[in-house]
Amino acid sequence: MTEPITVHAIINGKEAPTDKQFARENPTHPEEVVGYAPINTKEEAIQAIDAAHEAFKEWRLSDLEDRIQRMERAIQKIKDETPEIAKLLSREHGKALWDAEGEIAISLMWMEFACKTVKEVVTEELREHDNGRTIITKDPLGVVSAITPWNYPISLSTIKIAPALLTGNTMVLKPSPFAPLAVSKVVQLIANEFPPGVLNLIHGEADVGVELTSNEKVAKIAFTGGTKTAKSIMKAASETIKKMTLELGGNDAAIVLPSFDLTDTKAIRRMVISNFLTSGQICMIAKRIYVHSSIYDEFVEKYKEAANKWIRVGDPFNPETTVGPVNNKGQVNYVKGLIDGAKSKGAEVIPLGKVLNPELMENGYFLQPTLVLGADPHDPIVVEEQFGPTVPIIPFDDEEQVIELHNESIYGLTSSVWGEEEHALSVARRIEAGTTMINTAAVQGLDVRFPFGGVKQSGVGREYGKEGLQSYTETHVINIPKTLDLPYIPE
Ligand code: NAD
Repeated sequence: MTEPITVHAIINGKEAPTDKQFARENPTHPEEVVGYAPINTKEEAIQAIDAAHEAFKEWRLSDLEDRIQRMERAIQKIKDETPEIAKLLSREHGKALWDAEGEIAISLMWMEFACKTVKEVVTEELREHDNGRTIITKDPLGVVSAITPWNYPISLSTIKIAPALLTGNTMVLKPSPFAPLAVSKVVQLIANEFPPGVLNLIHGEADVGVELTSNEKVAKIAFTGGTKTAKSIMKAASETIKKMTLELGGNDAAIVLPSFDLTDTKAIRRMVISNFLTSGQICMIAKRIYVHSSIYDEFVEKYKEAANKWIRVGDPFNPETTVGPVNNKGQVNYVKGLIDGAKSKGAEVIPLGKVLNPELMENGYFLQPTLVLGADPHDPIVVEEQFGPTVPIIPFDDEEQVIELHNESIYGLTSSVWGEEEHALSVARRIEAGTTMINTAAVQGLDVRFPFGGVKQSGVGREYGKEGLQSYTETHVINIPKTLDLPYIPE
């Protein structure tokens, strides 16, 4: 058993030890403590915000080349330490080791893109016109509070840190208590490359979160998490009219058209991965599959075949494993409740995949992946975000009906349409979502060069792409007119 590690808050460039700590367990072996993180107080959150506020005064005026070089050095440090960070992430989170490495790879890809693109975003524009000159600059906002969830703790933090710091903001970041360790290591590596106070780290529960979202020195909130939490954040932030990027829950649908090629085994495998990657705990995973009734039976058979092949449940450190445990006990119970609820109303629940390490299933936070057939299209297993290893398949008869079922959701994060490309495109254009993918889904269609975010209750604003950098800037217009005389103002 590896010795537990201890991570600390980082306030004004220094580790800030605190007496109160909590233990993060290993979801595969819950009796094993992976490490300890602090339970920071509201007062410590205020210290971190004050440090970021003070640091902003100089950092906002810092040289862009210098910022980029610092971020590039941080990227190299993360690359050097990836093997160790990935192991830690896998142990505290429960995702397979290759999946943890993949999360770090996506983070690095984005950080590199942000370094390459920031100039384009912040370069000032000069407009010369008949009434003089106007300069348009893209100014940083100030202190950013970043609050992140447990499912992709490193990538959902770096997606905020890189654009915020590169565009001249300072930050206080609070990770989730369900995966606080590996992300703390990454934040430490980045913070080391920047002046004290530019990047601060604080841990804790909702009271710390409330301070980060209501303190008047905070200019922007960059939040990824549940829609319910976002509603309280919006209320807390309203008093001081903060800028906000909210990346929230989803109930992403995959729509399989009659033109879908059932012999395309690679496409069906992509669909399975898009349902069960990271044990289904991804905001953009396909959480409900609608299949045209003309191909429903055959599709279900092909799907089961592909799922039984790809899904191998086991120890995240077993190289054969594709699906590890669920991250925490509460999530296991929630997903189990949805499955049991659908079953009690007559749905058929079909176990999928092979169990590689049966000895772990009892004690660890494991859930056998399942396919749910015959659920009512409005059953909670279909319309709620499950965030776990289960997926319902529902037949539909015509396009209008399936588009309506898709669009009646309160969510609209990503979606996918599967079938002949032009046909799928025509359906995609009528779907309400932030991203729609054709013949692929979830991270397999994610490209850090393009904006990502949700419509309706799935979010506000965009991350990734140029837009993700722009969201940390404010347009500042400096007007130098030739004349200030306006004809309608009397002498
Ligand atoms: P959560 O909302 O429970 O927690 C997210 C973060 O908010 C945690 O750090 C938590 O400690 C903090 N928090 C809790 N109460 C708070 C409060 N009152 N004020 C401020 N902060 C508070 O979410 P979770 O369970 O960690 O993550 C799962 C959810 O995240 C899912 O709904 C998933 O869809 C969503 N998610 C969305 C995206 C996206 O890009 N749209 C990506 C990943 C996850």
